Amino acid sequence: MPAFDEGITENLAEIKAITDNKEEPTFENTILALDRAGELLGKVNNVFFNLNSANTNEQMQALAREITPKLSKHRDNIMLNKDLFNRVKAVYEKRNELKLDAEQMRVVEKFYRDFERSGANLPDDKQAELRKLNEELSMMELKFEENTLAETNKNFKMVIDNEADLKGLPAEVIAGAAELAKKDSLPGKWVFTLQKPSMIPFLQYAENRALREKIYKGYLNRGNNNNAFDNKSAIEKIVKIRDQRAKLLGYANHAAYVIDDCMAKTPETVYSFLMKLWTPALERAKVERADMQKMIDAEGGKFKLEMWDWWFYAEKVRKAKFDLDESQLKPYLSLENVVNGMIDVYNKLYGIKFIRRTDLPVYNEEVRTYEVQEANGKHIGIFYMDFHPRAGKGNGAWCTSFREQSYKDGKMVTPVVSIVCNFTRPTGDTPALLSFDEVTTMFHESGHAMHALFTDGPYRRTAGNVPRDFVELPSQIMENWAMEPEVLRSYAKHYKTGEVMPEALITKLEKSAQFNQGFETTELLAASLLDMDWHTKAFDGNVEAFEKASMDKLGLINEIAPRYRSTYFAHIFSGGYSAGYYVYTWAAVLDADAFDAFKQSGNIFNPEIAAKFRTLLTKSGSDEGMTIYRNFRGQEPSIEPLLKRRGLK
Ligand SMILES: [Zn+2]
Repeated sequence: MPAFDEGITENLAEIKAITDNKEEPTFENTILALDRAGELLGKVNNVFFNLNSANTNEQMQALAREITPKLSKHRDNIMLNKDLFNRVKAVYEKRNELKLDAEQMRVVEKFYRDFERSGANLPDDKQAELRKLNEELSMMELKFEENTLAETNKNFKMVIDNEADLKGLPAEVIAGAAELAKKDSLPGKWVFTLQKPSMIPFLQYAENRALREKIYKGYLNRGNNNNAFDNKSAIEKIVKIRDQRAKLLGYANHAAYVIDDCMAKTPETVYSFLMKLWTPALERAKVERADMQKMIDAEGGKFKLEMWDWWFYAEKVRKAKFDLDESQLKPYLSLENVVNGMIDVYNKLYGIKFIRRTDLPVYNEEVRTYEVQEANGKHIGIFYMDFHPRAGKGNGAWCTSFREQSYKDGKMVTPVVSIVCNFTRPTGDTPALLSFDEVTTMFHESGHAMHALFTDGPYRRTAGNVPRDFVELPSQIMENWAMEPEVLRSYAKHYKTGEVMPEALITKLEKSAQFNQGFETTELLAASLLDMDWHTKAFDGNVEAFEKASMDKLGLINEIAPRYRSTYFAHIFSGGYSAGYYVYTWAAVLDADAFDAFKQSGNIFNPEIAAKFRTLLTKSGSDEGMTIYRNFRGQEPSIEPLLKRRGLK
């Protein structure tokens, strides 16, 4: 807390120095000064909140609750500071006479828009209202995150004491469950949790249908158990406050407010974009459902496929159609080999090197550190990797920065970047063997990291600062390399024998790439459309009814739930992706189209295209997203490569 207090005090002094300046507002004394301000607070903020996500405890959570409303208030104190805004506005209004270069012009416009979007143009009484809304909202979002964490990591566990209930599960999954039980002081039993590395294999392989139902329902009902961690009232408050705030700022709704700042520009564009994919995806999912029902019938199952059966039968169909079983792949996908494979890809694309460092401080002994260097040894930045689930770590995977690239006194300050994941742990003598989904996630997060590491811009407001529907392009494109046979041959080696993944298995993996894409695209689109509905449509107070109406209107089939249901949809209710979950699909169009450029050239490591793509990463914030993209590709992105890749066409 003292560090936060000091950061806030210093930041306010910097702002005061700008507003006390007796000289006419200029780019240097106002915009540049503002761009440089808040360095200490940013540093404290990054360190604290990164750790609160990756390695928290009750004390840190309590501190987060205390500091969150303070920070929200502090931000308002700056963005609603009249003297400051008047100076920014003065520069903005004479910007065409100031002989600014293109990037300076962009910084001026960005700052002006930030103030406008934060309510700087509103009368006093409306500004007071806005401050109250922002503070309440930040608290509700934090509450939502805490509830979701407790509901995932603490409030549910499935204890198995009858070995017969483990039938179908691979040995390493059983071993993992036994270790969890040991940690929970339940020796001789097996524990499964709602964390994905525990739940997904259970859904894929456990023959006990009733237990599959039990764990999946536990997952689906997170935040919806009418207990102290229920998120329904938080959702009601969050959507209400966001709607009020949007209207106060002159927008029709929260989605219109958010998307105004993105490549897509309007909710209408987003809806029509998502619906273009919805129909082919749902049709494909129905075919997949029929395939699975056929299998159930052939086995004499005499029941209708349900949500908790999907993974189990998908796995069986995959085996029947492609003779591919996830567990055949895993021995070739040890964590170390995958990390090395990923490093190798960046080396081939950009000539860069990753040097393991053991002399740098880490927040948990499991975290490892690399120094990233150019081919000639020039320092690029530091890259942390934190791979396995822990009680104090949030769900999913993400990339974050402890320090962003910037310039100080003409010298570049290099970035310190981190990826945080929840991958399968090693068990006993067996190293961590990843699922292919986890491999893809690693490549994905490393793509975000490369974006942060390569960023080079003179102003903090624009350097690497891209619209949300651009953010997932640098990450998603990397998933393509993970899958390429040429790349697989370089890293997918058996953890015991060192034998390269057999060609037959690589071919199977390649062929099965389109497998289950109807399901995966449908669940993602359903969540994206649910998010859009939450932030454009009127809400009557019943969360479950709202969600159901939203899904019924789309014709979502009963066997598929949206990828996130409302009561644990942390991306949109606490994670900064509100009216923005669509960006994953938007970026998928961009990444499929961008990777197509490499493919078409006949060389997935084509140095010229790689150099252009590196420029896109380096300069990403310096212009409009679509302009940056066109500069790389030489044309507008097309939706066709994505439809083709997912077998939806
Ligand atoms: Zn991402």
